[in-house]
Amino acid sequence: MNSSTNYDVVIVGSGLGGLICANVLSKQGMRVCVLEKHYQIGGNLQTFKREGCVFDTGVHYIGCMDSGEILHQVFKYLGVLNQMKLERLDKEGFDVISIGDKEYKLANGYDNFAVALKSYFPEESVAIDKFVETLRIIWDNVGLLNFRGNVKGVIPGVWQYNENAHDFIEGLTDNEELRAVLAGNNGLFTGNSAKTPLYMLANINSFYIKSAWRLAGGGTQLAEALGRNVEQAGGKVMVNANVVKFKSKEKLIEAACLENGEVIHGNSFISNIHPSLTMDLVEPGLMRQVYVDRIKSLENGISVFTLYLTLEKGMIPHRNSNLYYSKDTWVWDLHKDPNQEWPHGFMLYTSQDGNTGFAESMTIITMMRFDEVEQWSDTTIEKRGESYKAFKKEKTDALLKLVKQKYPQLSTAVKSSFVSTPLTFRDYTGTVRGSMYGIEKDSSDPVRTSILPNTKVKNLLMTGQNINIHGTLGVTMGALLTCSNLVDMETIMDEIKEA
Ligand SMILES: Cc1cc2nc3c(=O)[nH]c(=O)nc-3n(C[C@H](O)[C@H](O)[C@H](O)COP(=O)(O)OP(=O)(O)OC[C@H]3O[C@@H](n4cnc5c(N)ncnc54)[C@H](O)[C@@H]3O)c2cc1C
Repeated sequence: MNSSTNYDVVIVGSGLGGLICANVLSKQGMRVCVLEKHYQIGGNLQTFKREGCVFDTGVHYIGCMDSGEILHQVFKYLGVLNQMKLERLDKEGFDVISIGDKEYKLANGYDNFAVALKSYFPEESVAIDKFVETLRIIWDNVGLLNFRGNVKGVIPGVWQYNENAHDFIEGLTDNEELRAVLAGNNGLFTGNSAKTPLYMLANINSFYIKSAWRLAGGGTQLAEALGRNVEQAGGKVMVNANVVKFKSKEKLIEAACLENGEVIHGNSFISNIHPSLTMDLVEPGLMRQVYVDRIKSLENGISVFTLYLTLEKGMIPHRNSNLYYSKDTWVWDLHKDPNQEWPHGFMLYTSQDGNTGFAESMTIITMMRFDEVEQWSDTTIEKRGESYKAFKKEKTDALLKLVKQKYPQLSTAVKSSFVSTPLTFRDYTGTVRGSMYGIEKDSSDPVRTSILPNTKVKNLLMTGQNINIHGTLGVTMGALLTCSNLVDMETIMDEIKEA
């Protein structure tokens, strides 16, 4: 490309946040360049293929995609709706929470959700109603989730920022089984009993309670559709474009410098990478050290271990839901404590073999601390040595042993298996110590652990899962917040509503 080109906006990273910003700003007539260090765009939307089966590395189910719902409207506005292959998960049980031998279905619709839970816990209707009502109120308080665009650069819906999710549930009921069910899908936010804020549990649950859908063609379809839009609008999406530095002049960023020596100029810059890594790109002295130190001192959430299985035909029924399993009623802080036996629980989903009703593959996700793989942290993908292979085998066997309690057929149904560890994750998405969802929000210290899109450099903004909250909903809303610093969000929200 012509190195003298000056873009309106240069975006570092092609995760969902970067791509949504690129789309919104392109639609507003800006010339945008997205720089991605990998050969594939999407970050956590990336998929890979083994033996004909497509596996997601991150996002596999999303919510609020029914007509008129918030994500549906945003994707409609961006013109990607028709390019996404979606399948609705079981309305009567999009998530199934399994505590030991027992199973509980989470149903779509606040009212149905409550009715279903009351059928398991008839004596707990007051607690269940309070839970559901609280979720509803918290959602209704967030302007962007309700098509209100008057954000003025601040995070809307700060209500109950400092209320703790675990404590809220404990306060609802003494029934330990119900407590575990209400927090049972907390792999969705790597629930930390001391820190996870209530608004996070509430809004992520509401997102799926409203409607829950599998991205049937894999997350890549969304990334590719968003990427195509940018190019069609005259922008550029560059892969193998690893940004190593921001060049600055007179207290502003003027260009992003790539590892290969290319220099991409722009008027404004958005970083879609981890805030701590963003700080590393900025020239020393440009930001106040106290700000840099604050960002760098923030704790990151736990990492993840994923087991991908291809399956023999016709052996394991496909499930149109996600299964969240815990050995017992303690579902919080999964694998944070080195003394907790690994694995204590997992999340699992299958992909269907055509329309046979049977699964062709299964993905099993559980938490893992980075220190488990620390000894190989200086190695790179495919070059980590025999001891790392032995570690993966040991962990695979341990996880499979637990999963077989739900699926004994796995003893003979597994065709092949693949694993990703915190190292894989760190190296493919560039998150600090492979953290699944990035900087950990802390209900007891909400201001310090919340990251705003604005930085101390006037023309450098941030986006992605560390702004607002993680996940498709949080990242999309966070991207709109980021864009509200460059365009009039009230007008855009009206357009989204009317799309
Ligand atoms: C295992 C797992 C399962 C998940 N499942 C779901 C789910 O089912 N539903 C859901 O809603 N959410 C899910 N999430 C959460 C969701 O995937 C993330 O919150 C979201 O995708 C993060 O998007 P992001 O914009 O922060 O960018 P990221 O996905 O973090 O992407 C950042 C991009 O920046 C690139 N990059 C980094 N450094 C540089 C550099 N120096 N130069 C250029 N490019 C760079 C990276 O290569 C990457 O492509 C899941 C997450 C994980 C880990």
